[in-house]
Amino acid sequence: MWESNPDCLFCKILAGEIPAEIVYESDSAIAFRDINPQAPTHLVIIPRKHIATINDIETGDNALVGSLYSAARDIAAADGFADDGYRVVMNCNEAAGQTVFHIHLHLLSGRSLSWPPG
Ligand code: 5GP
Ligand code: ZN
Repeated sequence: MWESNPDCLFCKILAGEIPAEIVYESDSAIAFRDINPQAPTHLVIIPRKHIATINDIETGDNALVGSLYSAARDIAAADGFADDGYRVVMNCNEAAGQTVFHIHLHLLSGRSLSWPPG
């Protein structure tokens, strides 16, 4: 059983209490469409364990966090944008724009993405 936080929006999505368009599921992670997409494909990939921010990742979470990248790789291959390219980004705390405090990788693809980000 994964640790969960009853006040967390993404834990509620994991529990099926709030609907989301889930496009990927593994033992350790799920991915769903962002409600406010910033690219033609904008997915949010989250671990099944509640971890509030990158600062809260423990050594024992390394495989779990790695599985978020495996999910991105597999989704990109399955959806056919692996070769064109895509971006994964994880924001940490307010200065970086984190608004949901359950770590998540944004997976963006389908348009040209500028660098550096704003
Ligand atoms: P952050 O700003 O924390 O890096 O990213 C949070 C993301 O979650 C945002 O891109 C936001 O649009 C998305 N989001 C917030 N609430 C919901 C929701 O209820 N459902 C879905 N699918 N996405 C959400
Ligand atoms: Zn959570």
